Amino acid sequence: MDFKELLNEFQKKSSRSEKEIEFIKRAFEFSKMAHAGQKRKSGEPYFNHSFETALKVAQWQLDYQTIAAALLHDVVEDGEETYSERIKSEFGAEVAFLVEGVTKLGRLKYRTQEEKQAENIRKMLLAISHDIRVIIIKLADRYHNMKTLRFLPPQKQKRIALETYEIYAPLAYRLGMTGFAGEIEDLAFRYLYPKEYQWLLGNVQEHFEERQKYLERVEPVLRKSLKENSIEPLKIDFRAKHYSSLYKKLLRNDMNLDQIYDLVALRVVVETIEDCYAVLGIVHNLWPPLPGRIKDYIALPKPNGYRSLHTTVFCVDNKPTEIQIRTLEMHEEAENGIAAHWAYEQKKGTKDYLDRKTSFVEKSELAWVQQLKNWQKDFLDPEDFLKSLKIDFFRDRIFAITPRGEVVDLPAGATPVDFAYSIHSTVGDECVGVKINGKITPLDYQLQSGDMVEILMQKSKKPSESWLRFAKTDQAKRKIKSGLKESRSFMQKKSTRTEFRIVILDRIGILKDITAVVSRSRINIANVNLIKTSGFPNIKMVCELSEKRKIESLVFKLKKVEGVREISYRSI
Ligand code: MN
Repeated sequence: MDFKELLNEFQKKSSRSEKEIEFIKRAFEFSKMAHAGQKRKSGEPYFNHSFETALKVAQWQLDYQTIAAALLHDVVEDGEETYSERIKSEFGAEVAFLVEGVTKLGRLKYRTQEEKQAENIRKMLLAISHDIRVIIIKLADRYHNMKTLRFLPPQKQKRIALETYEIYAPLAYRLGMTGFAGEIEDLAFRYLYPKEYQWLLGNVQEHFEERQKYLERVEPVLRKSLKENSIEPLKIDFRAKHYSSLYKKLLRNDMNLDQIYDLVALRVVVETIEDCYAVLGIVHNLWPPLPGRIKDYIALPKPNGYRSLHTTVFCVDNKPTEIQIRTLEMHEEAENGIAAHWAYEQKKGTKDYLDRKTSFVEKSELAWVQQLKNWQKDFLDPEDFLKSLKIDFFRDRIFAITPRGEVVDLPAGATPVDFAYSIHSTVGDECVGVKINGKITPLDYQLQSGDMVEILMQKSKKPSESWLRFAKTDQAKRKIKSGLKESRSFMQKKSTRTEFRIVILDRIGILKDITAVVSRSRINIANVNLIKTSGFPNIKMVCELSEKRKIESLVFKLKKVEGVREISYRSI
């Protein structure tokens, strides 16, 4: 946990100013101080986790503020609340914002396996973050947590692994961090599918080694041929398929390992795009390609921006073998995705950058991935680019969470009433109040992404007309109206009161005796009058009572009261 180690990563690919280095150093010391004495479940100092997170962020070549925020990312969460003010005053609003974003994301717990829910959470993560660097820190944080998952109790391991498998790995993939996504997915895989993982370990290891040895024989043959064509590859290496993706592929291939040609693929990294195609030609000259297995992801990148040439050839000894060809930039992008874009962005304007600049993905099925990619093209000034990273991806939507951690997707401006009706009409109708992030809040409050919303309910309550003033969604408005209509007609049709006429002999105390009988029957009296104008005095009494059986039973009891001569009643 040496500062130098962090500094080395930070300076690895570009020179950095003294000011930036000093800034990170201060964050380093601050984090160390704030976490002093805290231990992780593994027993190691808590600070190690913050350090490892920052180290990963530095490896991705991010800016100094992001690295500082990574160092500080758990200070507020695990330390004292007052730290959030100190971070702001000592490291500025930007770092404070990043730290707060990561803290906010940490609150989210993922508990359901339903696909739509997973998709919503991924969207929400982005919506909450506003700044893509928050996600990048979160991914680095998750990476270290996955690396140290064995120290947690099994229940927690499963939950975190599932979250990684279904939320963070796909999210990383979408951000173009293909290599990293595969890595964290693999880390999750062994916890989620321990038996399958063991099976793979037992059965694949040998294949892996055999394939690797084989490719070691292929490499010099290819290298020689490239040299004859005056192509100097930047590197040739082997990529072993990740266990989790191998497992998925095996399921599609009857668990037959011989069918998997890319178990270990040969990867050739060259200088330029022209070289990529040249290498492809040379490879096909050496070995005949398997029909239908040539994939040009340079001309047609994957939706997440992945670019490369893939081909499977009948290689040495006639063995089908996958070969991937790409430039260094494509390679870094494929490993680190958006983080790599960010790094390139910072170098923009430098000669090194301009030399390597190539056109970005033109077509994408995912508008927001497209948006990410376009940033690089649209913003020539790094300041602008920085601002653009803070664009709200889902400006028109907000994502609120139920106390059970489910995500509710609503239009911007939605209120707790909209939230309640989107869950169920009963929840809406019976809503009497709301707690937002644990605090009682007015019902016309405008929800923010990431708000935890707990609707307070009261049985058989009816909606209030005033809600129509602030309800945002048509669904809520419609349901409020129908709820109001229902309660009105309910009041009209169904009487809940009964008026009794009791003819009596006037005597002192008779009124008191009658009301005593009613009260003893646990019936509320709404109104009672003694009328003495006519020949016989009588009592007019209104009770909150509508059930026929109870009315008759009351009449029976009242007739026994001394001085009662006659009783009639009607519903009102
Ligand atoms: Mn953390």
